[in-house]
Amino acid sequence: MLENIKKVLVSQEAIIERSKEIGAQISKDYADKMPVLVALLKGSVPFAAELMKYIDIDMEIEFMDVSSYEGTKSTGEIKIIKDLDRSIKDCDVIIVEDIVDTGKTLKTVKELLYSKGAKDVKVATLLDKKYGRVVDIEADYVGFDIPDEFVVGYGLDFNQKFRNLPFVGVLKEECYRSENE
Ligand code: 5GP
Repeated sequence: MLENIKKVLVSQEAIIERSKEIGAQISKDYADKMPVLVALLKGSVPFAAELMKYIDIDMEIEFMDVSSYEGTKSTGEIKIIKDLDRSIKDCDVIIVEDIVDTGKTLKTVKELLYSKGAKDVKVATLLDKKYGRVVDIEADYVGFDIPDEFVVGYGLDFNQKFRNLPFVGVLKEECYRSENE
């Protein structure tokens, strides 16, 4: 697995440190509320698990699975594979994402959560590819701004592999070529 990685972009240590900072900020911002974290499966699981350890106020976590990606290109469409288990009516929601690229997934999920009656919807993302943005949406809590490269690890996959890497890295080009041919 490691032989397929060209370079490490964000180390595990850096992710832990940044998660502590964001967790502390969320604890402050939501001190008088009880946020519901909505983690988007599967990519956000490692980040959501790290982040919630540093939120020291009452909170709940929910999972949602929407699909938006085929290979390395955004299709712009999302399909709900797993919906929330509970009502979020009048709740303060924080969507937890692995990465925001075009922003299409986030915009659609945000609108969906508002349509379910959420009082407020904010976004925490581990990674932000600002140059990839095609719709007008920004995350409220950003782990790291990264360049427009296809990354894997810490939850992010390439054809379902590499999610278990403990860091965020860039794949070698030959991996795309051999898997896409
Ligand atoms: P968006 O709708 O913002 O273009 O895409 C968001 C989703 O696309 C993410 O949740 C993630 O699944 C996928 N994605 C975007 N960029 C990357 C990337 O560099 N690597 C991987 N593995 N997935 C990505």
